[in-house]
Amino acid sequence: MTVTVQLLTRHQIERMPERAREVVEYRKSGLSLNHIQGCPLDCAYCIRHTYGLWDQRVPRALMSDDEAVEELVNHRYFQPHVTPVQVFNRATDPFLPVVRPHTFAVLEDLDARKLTNHVLVITRHQMKPEDIERLNRLRCVKVTLLFTYSGIDNKDIEPYPSHVAAESLKLMSEPRERRYRTVLYWRPLVPGLNDSPQHLDQAYELSKHADATVFTGLFYRDQIADYYRANKLPEPYDEAARRKIMPETLERRVLSTFAGNDSLFRKTSCAVAYAHELSDYNGHYGIPELCDICPLAQLNRCKNAYKVPDARGVRKVAGALPEARGMVVVNITEHAAIVSGLETEQPRYYVQHALGFQVHDVRHPHRERRHGRADIGWKDGTQDG
Ligand code: SF4
Repeated sequence: MTVTVQLLTRHQIERMPERAREVVEYRKSGLSLNHIQGCPLDCAYCIRHTYGLWDQRVPRALMSDDEAVEELVNHRYFQPHVTPVQVFNRATDPFLPVVRPHTFAVLEDLDARKLTNHVLVITRHQMKPEDIERLNRLRCVKVTLLFTYSGIDNKDIEPYPSHVAAESLKLMSEPRERRYRTVLYWRPLVPGLNDSPQHLDQAYELSKHADATVFTGLFYRDQIADYYRANKLPEPYDEAARRKIMPETLERRVLSTFAGNDSLFRKTSCAVAYAHELSDYNGHYGIPELCDICPLAQLNRCKNAYKVPDARGVRKVAGALPEARGMVVVNITEHAAIVSGLETEQPRYYVQHALGFQVHDVRHPHRERRHGRADIGWKDGTQDG
């Protein structure tokens, strides 16, 4: 018998925090579907802290899978064959035993619609040999499994052991012929916690199993910092940040551990694109310092696909969204379009994916070599240490 999750009543849904009720939401790496929310794995840095859902440990559904996929594909942000999609990446793990049937139901529904969009599935849970066969039956969607692995052994911060994700990555990467791709999603890297030479070496060994590896830091928002303090967890930084934190020296050590590896990336979309032998759908090629660790064949793919739009083209794409009609194109360089007048980040991601070109908000200028990460741990204005 398939065990699935409980469906919430309308009354229960109305009592949820506002953001939790948003089942389809544009996040940086794609349009995210989250009609199941709740997770028992208790990672201390979970994003659920940031919108009032931390106490929801039991996965529960806001609607059926059919309704959720309908909502996704009919969403104004969804572009068939273009928009990268992420399934259950905000509030649960897609391969928890009770969530797994829903994950497959969504993937199979999207596939039956003959959609060729990227679909990212991020997990730290145990996967099973039968998952290989079932994923291999998908014909159209471009599925990437991203295995969250940190090597953190402090059980107060990450009670669910990293070695499970490592074993899942090995299992799912083993078949030579497969239709999906695997990525070692090495995160969060935190100074003093999981950045010893042994930790770095272990991640390097593990990366040999994956089609690609991406490394990133900790998303240490105010609510997460509050939780760390309240529970007397070792605080990694003395301030919270809007962006993920990856100190400069740690990045340099990671790059030197991986010297000679040609499938390490700084950005999730780059790792996913590389694994499928496609150009990066986020247009990161416009930020050349991101590409200095990228293999030549991939650089050429991105270069060939790269096209700088004109202001009219940017406005035309944005014009499809009511909330982006007030958007102003401040400037377009060969690196990015700089825009203003958008109240939220979501329409910006829509335009970025429609054009395959970076779109930056004038309020949040990108700093050279920070790669969209927080300033913490970087020497201001320096070129090289
Ligand atoms: S060439 Fe640059 S944009 Fe393309 S995948 Fe590599 S790092 Fe990303």
